[in-house]
Amino acid sequence: MNYILLGPPGAGKGTQAKKIVERFSVVHLSTGEMFREAKRSERIISELLTSGQLVPDALVIDMVKKYFVKDYMKKGFLLDGFPRTVRQAEKLNVILKSESIKIDAVFFIDICFEEAIKRIAGRRVCSCGASYHITALPPKEVGKCDVCGGRLVQRNDDREDTVRDRLSVYEKQTKPLVEYYSKAGLLIDIDGLKDESNVFEQISRKIKI
Ligand code: ADP
Ligand code: ADP
Ligand code: ZN
Repeated sequence: MNYILLGPPGAGKGTQAKKIVERFSVVHLSTGEMFREAKRSERIISELLTSGQLVPDALVIDMVKKYFVKDYMKKGFLLDGFPRTVRQAEKLNVILKSESIKIDAVFFIDICFEEAIKRIAGRRVCSCGASYHITALPPKEVGKCDVCGGRLVQRNDDREDTVRDRLSVYEKQTKPLVEYYSKAGLLIDIDGLKDESNVFEQISRKIKI
């Protein structure tokens, strides 16, 4: 099984990806996480992320391409945050074709603008990868990670001034993928406004192993 998670910032892609990977043992590929790692060493990426802009397509493709030639992707994968532009989707098709890999479905987790703002404003993350929400998914102890005890912080691109830019980048550059994958017959609509476990139910019902 090979799947894509599509949706606006804050829709719950990362949250659901963790649950899907636990239940179905697929490889999780999050370009956002990869860039947050790279950001420590590369200034240009750091600046793009902090301002809420996308990383250029060529750079994204170069980074992602390496993973598809590896055997471990063959046991199935979940792409989270990639592709994010029609150009990336087209390039992905070329890579998949050359490796004889097919996408089974694209889960489009949708939420409205107001909810995206609320979710992003309340998101707190730990360096171990765990993610929380100050009201919807709070940690047991304020500011402390349930998994590792680490300190929870706000991502610097989650601050109020950047969030609106990210949402407009999404509308212009990523949303066209909804039509793109719908035309390809791969899109599955998921109501992201429901709670975490309901969203997971909607997705797992459609996963075939
Ligand atoms: P994305 O990866 O799509 O940007 P996240 O999975 O990081 O989104 O979720 C964004 C924020 O919303 C996080 O703080 C997360 O805890 C919270 N969240 C995720 N799913 C839900 C949900 N179904 N209902 C309420 N809050 C949620
Ligand atoms: P969110 O789901 O909250 O929007 P991500 O963690 O997926 O955040 O991405 C964080 C940032 O990393 C994006 O705002 C963008 O700058 C960069 N990024 C991640 N994936 C891509 C991609 N496929 N193409 C271009 N930029 C990306
Ligand atoms: Zn942690």
